[in-house]
Amino acid sequence: MNSSSTAEERGTVETSDVIVIGAGFAGLTAARELSRSGHRTILLEAKDRIAGRTHLAEHLGRDLELGGTWVHWTQPFVWAAMGRYGIKALPGPEFTQASWTVNGQRHQGTAESLLELLDGPNRMLLAAARRYFPLPWSPLDNPDVADIDELTLSEAIDRLDLPEDQRQLLRSFWTLNFNGKLDQAAYSQALRWCAVASGDWKLMFEACASFKIDGGTRRLAEAILADSTAELRLNQVVCSIKQDDKGVLVTTVAGKQYTARQLILALPLSVLNHIDIQPPLSRGKKEAAARGQAGLGAKLWIRVQGRQERFVAFGPETAALNFVQAEYIDHDTTTLVCFGPDAGAVDLTDAAAAQRHLDAIVPGLKVLDVAGHDWVADEYARSTWPMHYTGYLTRSLAELQRPEGRIRLAGSDFANGWGGFIDGAIESGFDAAREAASALGNDARSPFQAPVVV
Ligand SMILES: Cc1cc2nc3c(=O)[nH]c(=O)nc-3n(C[C@H](O)[C@H](O)[C@H](O)COP(=O)(O)OP(=O)(O)OC[C@H]3O[C@@H](n4cnc5c(N)ncnc54)[C@H](O)[C@@H]3O)c2cc1C
Repeated sequence: MNSSSTAEERGTVETSDVIVIGAGFAGLTAARELSRSGHRTILLEAKDRIAGRTHLAEHLGRDLELGGTWVHWTQPFVWAAMGRYGIKALPGPEFTQASWTVNGQRHQGTAESLLELLDGPNRMLLAAARRYFPLPWSPLDNPDVADIDELTLSEAIDRLDLPEDQRQLLRSFWTLNFNGKLDQAAYSQALRWCAVASGDWKLMFEACASFKIDGGTRRLAEAILADSTAELRLNQVVCSIKQDDKGVLVTTVAGKQYTARQLILALPLSVLNHIDIQPPLSRGKKEAAARGQAGLGAKLWIRVQGRQERFVAFGPETAALNFVQAEYIDHDTTTLVCFGPDAGAVDLTDAAAAQRHLDAIVPGLKVLDVAGHDWVADEYARSTWPMHYTGYLTRSLAELQRPEGRIRLAGSDFANGWGGFIDGAIESGFDAAREAASALGNDARSPFQAPVVV
């Protein structure tokens, strides 16, 4: 009859109540919730590992987080997940020294003095956070957001009319937060971040870079998986999805097929259009996926010679690496974590290039080796942390959260609260699981009767 019956004859079709595609924090959470409530759940993951855009891996002589890292007590979902599994948060180091390059001049001071320099401009930029987001956890229920959702962060900063050195420093600070360029970045996303941190930009910044997960992100991801009876299938690159009134049929590039009554697509926004979905997702979803996210930058680890001061450094917003932080200080080496707004400008394997990039903002350090993962070139991520372009909240988010038949999206890209963070991924995984469970409950078919999709 069709490819599904052929595959069925070959015995390669697996049937479950629900399929979750993507084993990042959203997919892991959704799969745990559904499986623990008695639904047979298959979790399909393209890579040979779980945890998605977080990845703890051994490099430069220690376990390094190549992707998502920091968590905070203002982030209820990830904090609760850690508590559930008895995983502690490790406070990060206190930074003492700072440098910042503005108007072509490098300045040095204490980390505290750098924070003070950023304080006034950030207060001005973010003063209206709670006015536009009186309900920070319901981004779609804040009608005034429509007034500013088309404003770029670049425009919003320039409107403040700051002295040039403050303007440049503020732009570099937000280039770091967006891990991307500011010219299409949404001002509303900056306000939203600040609003979920109760309108306090310093708390927001602390949330972004203070506490790490004891044992790393992999430990938390593995704990969620171990608490689940979902059947994980690694190395399953999904290339097509069909749905009809009977169910969904998922096909991998290797030709393996899976059927179920409900499907959760726990994928990054920018990946969605690379899967053939029939009938196609709505125009609104496809347009949002085609535009993607503004987080298109680099995270690079650099080991340098010598025991350095505990410093942070901002370069110009256009620098290949515009932020550097001395993260691990050992006996005779120091390991720096660095960020830049354009993944294409940083070769994550090239120590000589890293030396040039570092010299531009922190001269005098000798690079020994480097490590990183290019999330933008990674076909299963195509972005770093999801930071929205203009118009996302008013034009895209509601549509992206709207299920289409048996398919619903989950992920940090689609979260209500800490969108862009691990916390948002977990939040969204809960939502998708609850809705899928409800849809399964409304479906009278017995759990293991295979739907047939033609
Ligand atoms: C460099 C970097 C730094 C970050 N820093 C922080 C931080 O400090 N704190 C923080 O909270 N967040 C941070 N984040 C963001 C955070 O990591 C993500 O928001 C979160 O992990 C996303 O989870 P997710 O489940 O929504 O998506 P993902 O983790 O992207 O999961 C999606 C999964 O789908 C899989 N997949 C894709 N395509 C297919 C396919 N065709 N078939 C099958 N599977 C597929 C992928 O392999 C992946 O496993 C950072 C991210 C990056 C990249």
